[in-house]
Amino acid sequence: MALFIPTSISFAEAAPQITHLGIGAHQDDLEIMALHGILECYQNPTQHFGGIVCTNGSGSPRTGTYADCHDSTMKSIRQEEQRQAARLGKYLFVAQLDHSSAEVQNLTNNSLVDELYELLLQLHPEVIYTHHPLDKHPTHRAVGRAVIEALRRLPAKQHPKRCLGGEVWRGLDWLVDEDKITLDVSAHPELSEKLLTVFASQISGGKRYDFAARGRWQANATFANAHHVDQATLVSYAIDLMPLLENSQLTLEKFALSFVDRFRKEIEGEQGGKAW
Ligand SMILES: [Zn+2]
Repeated sequence: MALFIPTSISFAEAAPQITHLGIGAHQDDLEIMALHGILECYQNPTQHFGGIVCTNGSGSPRTGTYADCHDSTMKSIRQEEQRQAARLGKYLFVAQLDHSSAEVQNLTNNSLVDELYELLLQLHPEVIYTHHPLDKHPTHRAVGRAVIEALRRLPAKQHPKRCLGGEVWRGLDWLVDEDKITLDVSAHPELSEKLLTVFASQISGGKRYDFAARGRWQANATFANAHHVDQATLVSYAIDLMPLLENSQLTLEKFALSFVDRFRKEIEGEQGGKAW
């Protein structure tokens, strides 16, 4: 694990101050999926953001100036980009774990769950942001699963007040409105732009995650409600993951499908209505 603390304090001093914790798969996921937490804590004396990145970035696709980078070089570049995001966003710490995507996706390998559990024993955040189980990216879903498994090992009194599964590789605008957690990410727009563009190795090859994420947030804000003016200029959606902590028997698959079932029921209901 590569631990980075932008200020001169120790991890033991930083850990109890963390109120918002993001746990993402790759370098750059926190800045999309947990941006709400980063912005809530930015320049806030009583709230502090911490981040955990689970994979080491060595398997990252590369083009352009990065095309000939060896895996170990790519790993260093991505880790430094993540450190730069932590400096810009004033995170209290960022822990970069050293797992490959294959390790994370291997359900018989508990090393990520063990490591997250050890970290969570030292952290007591009010809010955790991670990947939702409907995400299209298998490494994202695997990290989301590992976070839930690690949290389930903790006693209930050590659970966060909120555990949110945020958008990256699948938007959540299709959910029925009751299932959507709306996160206003309009604050500090210059900072959020910098946080997305700092990951030059990812966006230089034509994957403009910075444009894509911002475009989604703008679309979410405008298409949120047909009858009201926009309440926020940028909106990110999330799923409430707390039912998975309150009921340890609830499988991620059953939980994920429950959102699809409610969406289906909404469409079936409308079919019987006047609109059809
Ligand atoms: Zn990712």
